[in-house]
Amino acid sequence: MTERRSLSLPPPLFAVVPAAGVGARMGAGLPKQYLTLQGRTLAEHTLGRLLAFAPLQAVVVAVADGDPWWPELAVAGHPRVTSVTGGASRARSVLAGVAAVLERAPDARVLVHDMARPLVRLSDIQALLDHDDRGDGAILARPVTDTIKQADADTRIRATLDRSLIWRALTPQLFDARRLHDALLSALRDDPEAITDEASALEAAGARPALVAGHADNIKITVPEDLALARFYLRAQEEEGLAWQFV
Ligand code: C5P
Repeated sequence: MTERRSLSLPPPLFAVVPAAGVGARMGAGLPKQYLTLQGRTLAEHTLGRLLAFAPLQAVVVAVADGDPWWPELAVAGHPRVTSVTGGASRARSVLAGVAAVLERAPDARVLVHDMARPLVRLSDIQALLDHDDRGDGAILARPVTDTIKQADADTRIRATLDRSLIWRALTPQLFDARRLHDALLSALRDDPEAITDEASALEAAGARPALVAGHADNIKITVPEDLALARFYLRAQEEEGLAWQFV
């Protein structure tokens, strides 16, 4: 580590991919990352793109205990892919992955990316890296275009929010691994329900991560209709000439 600092090399970059959810909203009988999109599983699409991003040293995937599908994928045996056992919540799965990264590189930075977002563009990942200059981390996000209403418990409108200040959080999200680890630990202790992404844990610790505008096609597959949309976006990306290769 000392040697790396004295040579002024950037800290090593890892990805942590939470993939230990059951995907109940898909109603598919198997976790959504194993559904196929143009002949390949969502997991293979997602990991293929991350592995094609050369600056990434390794990808740590958090999989459910006893997941029978994961070991069947060829990409599970890729030399830059390792797996850890995920937890009962997304935050716990990410924490397990980040802990594994810290064991390998205490000064690492981590990109946390949903396995269920198979269409992420390498140019967006690069934009995120280019932006993270303040130490508080950065996330891909989209400004909202709809008018946003805040509801009361009885589904009546309490307020109309200023939409020029509202963004939807996407992934990847980029943080210093140690800071993310500590923020997740304390957020899990204080208010586990409030951590719906990594940035929210950092925010609770007082950090102000940057918002970096990403592409709209970086969708998260949550409900069955999303697969049709993903198919459409994937074709559009292919027509645009975007292609990924990893070794
Ligand atoms: O359910 P949702 O779509 O928000 O899940 C986002 C990601 O978090 C998915 O990739 C899912 O596999 C992962 N997850 C996890 N561990 C859990 C729950 C969800 O890794 N216990």
